[in-house]
Amino acid sequence: MKIKEILNENKFVFKKKFGQNFLLDQNILNNIVSLANITKDTLVIEIGVGAAALTKKLSVVSKNVIGYEIDTTLKKPLESILSEYDNIDIIYDDFLNRDIKKDIKKYSFKHVMVVANLPYYITTPIITKFINEKIDVDKIIVMVQNEVANRFSAKPGTKSYNSLTIFLNYYFDIKKAFTVSRNAFYPKPNVDSAVVIFTKKIKKIKILNESLFFKLVKDSFDKKRKTLKNNLKDYNLDKINEVLNKHNKNINNRAETITIEEFAEISNFLT
Ligand code: SAM
Repeated sequence: MKIKEILNENKFVFKKKFGQNFLLDQNILNNIVSLANITKDTLVIEIGVGAAALTKKLSVVSKNVIGYEIDTTLKKPLESILSEYDNIDIIYDDFLNRDIKKDIKKYSFKHVMVVANLPYYITTPIITKFINEKIDVDKIIVMVQNEVANRFSAKPGTKSYNSLTIFLNYYFDIKKAFTVSRNAFYPKPNVDSAVVIFTKKIKKIKILNESLFFKLVKDSFDKKRKTLKNNLKDYNLDKINEVLNKHNKNINNRAETITIEEFAEISNFLT
């Protein structure tokens, strides 16, 4: 039976509040899975199982799939949809409240990857959760709103570049893989989407004091239209200017023109 028929039979109602736009286009699903290069010793974490269109494909190529789904009304249809799959475990809970390290402890694996068509209302908290909880993931491949994808992979000097861009790019190499039209989803959302690949950085930029670095970046972008001089009044502006001058920049520039390496150099000089 087709996924839509099973959902209808179970009188499933799509819930906007959970960002439920299911991806049913087989080509796009296959493209996402092949981007990940998943091997048989990989544990895949999926956030937002939905009707398991992606989950099923991940199950075939990986060792185990652990899926999170907040909507318990999907439990019954998913039992039917996944009846023939024996390496998928679904946790019916809010992913943001889970202790991921504890959840994955019982599995044996060589690699951990995250592959998901994310609920857009909590995209950033989901990705930062992996960083904050120090989960050692090789890759995160996620479908997000196109605009958000641009922010994640933004280059300095562009409108989308902000403190979140720098935070995420400190941990990962980030690449937008391809865009996906809103027509590929059911129900159809109001925005287009894109698939983004986060690959764990093998060599992170050298930072002497991470908390100072992140504070400096956050403060620099505090008022987006203001210059560094105005946003960083509480810092040693002479020292900051000294570093920036080496790169033909100065404290009258705005934060959006400063590269991650330059922020690192400034914070190391201030440490
Ligand atoms: N993976 C499916 C697909 O590709 O068709 C569904 C994707 S849909 C965009 C997002 C899914 O995430 C929905 O099934 C929704 O119920 C679920 N979800 C929303 N918030 C969640 C949360 N906090 N924790 C776990 N799942 C969540």
